[in-house]
Amino acid sequence: MMNNIKETLVKNKISPSFHRIKVYEYLMNNKTHPSVETIYSELHSVIPTLSKTTIYNNLKTFMEHGIVMPITITENEVRYDADITFHGHFKCTECGEVHDIFNIEKLCSKIDTIEGHRISDTQVFFKGICKSCLKGI
Ligand SMILES: [Zn+2]
Ligand SMILES: [Zn+2]
Repeated sequence: MMNNIKETLVKNKISPSFHRIKVYEYLMNNKTHPSVETIYSELHSVIPTLSKTTIYNNLKTFMEHGIVMPITITENEVRYDADITFHGHFKCTECGEVHDIFNIEKLCSKIDTIEGHRISDTQVFFKGICKSCLKGI
């Protein structure tokens, strides 16, 4: 796993520092769309030298190189996603989890232009109550 992470970084012209490898590895292994806070609280105990600023800067580098996407589904925090394929997100208003929604082509297609405007990014967000929370209601 560690080698794949390193390879991906090198392939995308990102120098694979120890911290970068760890942050990217965390994103690849945790498809929960973590925030900087979450990544920090999860990794800091294992890697005490890792600061929030470093995580933030690493994520910025990953985004600049297109291997991580920001999700701004919540007003007050940015979540990060290492899955850069076209998919939507569903945020549960009860538990706060952000789920991946695939096959959104059925609902909306990824298009290049709309009414003459050129699109560089398409984000699809849904909000509601997730299926596990619905069971408890
Ligand atoms: Zn829920
Ligand atoms: Zn996602």
